[in-house]
Amino acid sequence: MSITEKIKCLIIGSGPAGYTAAVYAARANLAPVMYTGMQPGGQLTTTTEIDNFPGYPQGVTGQLMMDDLRKQAERFGADVRFGTVSEVNLDRRPFAVAIDGEHQVEAETLIIATGATAKYLGLPSEEKFKGYGVSACATCDGFFYRGKDVAVVGGGDTACEEAIYLAGLCRKVYMIVRRNVFRASKAMQERVFDAPNIEILWETQVKEVLGDKTVTGVLLATGDGEQKLSVDGFFLAIGHHPNSELFCRWLETDANGYIKTIPGSSKTKVEGVFACGDVQDPVYRQAVTAAGSGCMAAIDVERYLSGKKH
Ligand code: NDP
Repeated sequence: MSITEKIKCLIIGSGPAGYTAAVYAARANLAPVMYTGMQPGGQLTTTTEIDNFPGYPQGVTGQLMMDDLRKQAERFGADVRFGTVSEVNLDRRPFAVAIDGEHQVEAETLIIATGATAKYLGLPSEEKFKGYGVSACATCDGFFYRGKDVAVVGGGDTACEEAIYLAGLCRKVYMIVRRNVFRASKAMQERVFDAPNIEILWETQVKEVLGDKTVTGVLLATGDGEQKLSVDGFFLAIGHHPNSELFCRWLETDANGYIKTIPGSSKTKVEGVFACGDVQDPVYRQAVTAAGSGCMAAIDVERYLSGKKH
């Protein structure tokens, strides 16, 4: 594969972390180039309304917010390109990066902002109702179910956290747990047990999501057979999958694949490689925290490059 281009600052991924890094890097004259990945705008473009990003008193759709972020980055000269990074080589300097398996670029610095992907059960009916009652983010979509009944599937910390959040908004929250124990920490479990409007359905699996235009219920399988449960919203909380595979060989990751950064920075184990957003954040995973860490990454790149010069 022939090398066609040398890039000072290459940003991989186009969620709030990637775009914020692009805005800052462009304004610092780093001529950033971004490859958007398969889903330009990232996970947020699959949500409906975002009401918790500071500065949007009326709320904003995920799509519009990401379009605005792209325009803002381009206004300062960021080069935003549709394409997916298919391979990297972090052994050599500059780093070698292949795009769509077709062409290769050289990058002096890398900002990894590839995000995470929520895990789904894999049911066709779940796919059909995505955005119409099926969601993988209670903080994003819980508001639409105020006063209604919802179900959360999963028994880890995320599921408990989502259920507790939803319990503050909804009339009733059913937690659907496949085993007879939680995986979540004791402290989180206690909070679930203390919530009067959370009911736990142990040893229960989801067979189908039911509905017409929007979700009306779920079909459950228990030891006693199948039963229908009426709910207006169905939340997946069975884990996220950080999109870090391409980099695992060179970077340190935690047991779940999240890239480890040096605390208080976006620096990874490899000098010149920085990570921001959900790919390195198993805890907060919010648009605003991703954006903040994108800003950190661009500042870290700028300091790294000016340190190299002097
Ligand atoms: P986890 O992997 O910890 O938990 C996933 C849960 O989903 C488990 O209960 C698992 O069941 C269940 N599950 C997985 N697949 C299926 C399936 N196909 N059908 C039904 N249930 C399924 O993921 P989390 O996102 O909860 O947490 C990820 C990491 O982030 C953890 O380390 C967690 O501690 C951390 N975290 C910490 C928080 C905090 O400290 N505030 C908040 C959120 C996350 P089973 O147990 O049977 O495998």
